[in-house]
Amino acid sequence: MEISSNGNSFIYDLIIVGSGVAGIYAAIKAARFAKVCIIAKDWLNVCNTYMAQGGIAAAIGEHDSTEKHMYDTILAGYGHCNAEAVKIMVEDAPLIIKQLSEMGMPFCTDQGLLALGREGAHTENRVVYADGDATGMALHDTLSKKLLEEKKIDVYENTFATQLIVNNSKVLGVRTLSGETFLGACVILATGGAGRVFSCNTNSKAATGDGLAMAFEAGVKIVDMEFMQFHPTAFKISGNEHILISEALRGEGALLKNLEGKRFMSDYHDMAEMAPRDVVSRAILDQMRKHGCECVYLDITSKTPNFLKHRFPSIYKKTMECGYDMAKVFLPVSPAAHYMIGGIETGVWGETSLAGLYACGEVACTGVHGANRLASNSLLESLVFANRATKHIEKTGMQPMTIFKREDFEKENLTMLADSVNFSGILERLRSLMFMYAGIYRNEQELLKIKQFIMDNKKIFNARAKDRHLYEMKNLFISAKLMVDSALLRTESRGCHYRSDYPKEDEVWKNHRVESTD
Ligand SMILES: Cc1cc2nc3c(=O)[nH]c(=O)nc-3n(C[C@H](O)[C@H](O)[C@H](O)COP(=O)(O)OP(=O)(O)OC[C@H]3O[C@@H](n4cnc5c(N)ncnc54)[C@H](O)[C@@H]3O)c2cc1C
Repeated sequence: MEISSNGNSFIYDLIIVGSGVAGIYAAIKAARFAKVCIIAKDWLNVCNTYMAQGGIAAAIGEHDSTEKHMYDTILAGYGHCNAEAVKIMVEDAPLIIKQLSEMGMPFCTDQGLLALGREGAHTENRVVYADGDATGMALHDTLSKKLLEEKKIDVYENTFATQLIVNNSKVLGVRTLSGETFLGACVILATGGAGRVFSCNTNSKAATGDGLAMAFEAGVKIVDMEFMQFHPTAFKISGNEHILISEALRGEGALLKNLEGKRFMSDYHDMAEMAPRDVVSRAILDQMRKHGCECVYLDITSKTPNFLKHRFPSIYKKTMECGYDMAKVFLPVSPAAHYMIGGIETGVWGETSLAGLYACGEVACTGVHGANRLASNSLLESLVFANRATKHIEKTGMQPMTIFKREDFEKENLTMLADSVNFSGILERLRSLMFMYAGIYRNEQELLKIKQFIMDNKKIFNARAKDRHLYEMKNLFISAKLMVDSALLRTESRGCHYRSDYPKEDEVWKNHRVESTD
């Protein structure tokens, strides 16, 4: 076996990139049958998973059923969901929750049973949660503990993956920024989303579309990139930095009010504050425009400070630090980019269009979210399909490794990008253009402005970067291009893709997926 010219080479059965819920859960499951490594570009807990608040959806309530969960998911997804994948997800959900409980996940309980919260567009209370509003942190802590106990998993933190190594239409491994090569029979990309491509977002700094860009550069099929979900209620903490105010607050009775202190959601949807996220986001933007202001208000003053401190401890603390006691005053909120629905197309076993390559979590597009994700279905999707990807790998993917020659994975000779300083202004411009013109409302004229800006800076695509920030910038440019091109192609409005020049759903586009091409 020959190795790369400028660094170490490591050999595993399975290489997992990403240490959010998808990556860690896959690693734990695969350790039963494979020698696994997990690579994360930061410390293990720097990821969207760690920030998740509301919870995990599962039909376990007395009056609930998997059919109802499936129905709500497909309705929220505007008929664009992959029904087979949704069925698998909702049916696996109760068992996944049971297994997490057995692993030690500290789900909140109510009279001896798991407590169930309600979120937008769910017709039943079916969201399990932990530590009040810190489900993601509790989930990540529980899974990381298990991960670090596993002898068959090696963990590489602060290791930035830059490229998939591909030969003869098969993935061979992953290359990193410091020149190491990780070679293996299979690779799982679990690198999360690309929310940071919008100036105003709720995401962790890890969400820069790296896995998406690596897959795109390797010619892997990517779909549905026009669907970016905005969360209606983000709270500004400083500049463009926002924290999420979970939908679970509205599930507990919080009301949305405009500048005049009047409720408005029932003018837009029968479910009022509990309408699907795309409807609530557009209604809020409409109210902000009507009243010429930068926010609307969330009123949860009907609840006692004691209730709020226990049910929403993190949100209560963070907003209090900014001078807002939500038991007494309304919280100013506005929509922010939140969840990447599109991504690397996968089958129901997490398999992609490239042999040996799997994707799960936010970077993947299994089709379960359709055109608009139902709240609290994404942690669930990550868990269900990470588990299934490992089952598929166990059954079919553990082929003996090919013998590599150096030229199989020699780097192409690409231009180096100069340095971060020159480019930071360009990136900030891209992020504001994306928020202004590719956000909740889009139209051809404005999308073309972003496309032009991307083309004016296309040297960024063809360059190999020398540091992490430049790589992330390049990956964000690729993510933006995929989103803008797909949004231009879908000449209708559906779910969270709203074209003001094509404001209606068009039957022609029903069940049609926009595929990203070079
Ligand atoms: C504020 C917030 C609240 C949310 N609340 C909920 C909720 O209540 N319920 C719900 O279902 N969903 C929620 N979501 C969505 C959900 O948290 C995410 O979709 C899910 O956690 C994604 O998990 P993941 O494993 O795919 O990615 P992430 O958790 O984002 O992990 C990505 C990983 O990939 C690694 N990585 C990325 N690029 C590279 C690279 N180049 N090299 C090496 N490693 C790399 C990162 O280091 C990180 O470890 C929320 C999201 C946010 C932001």
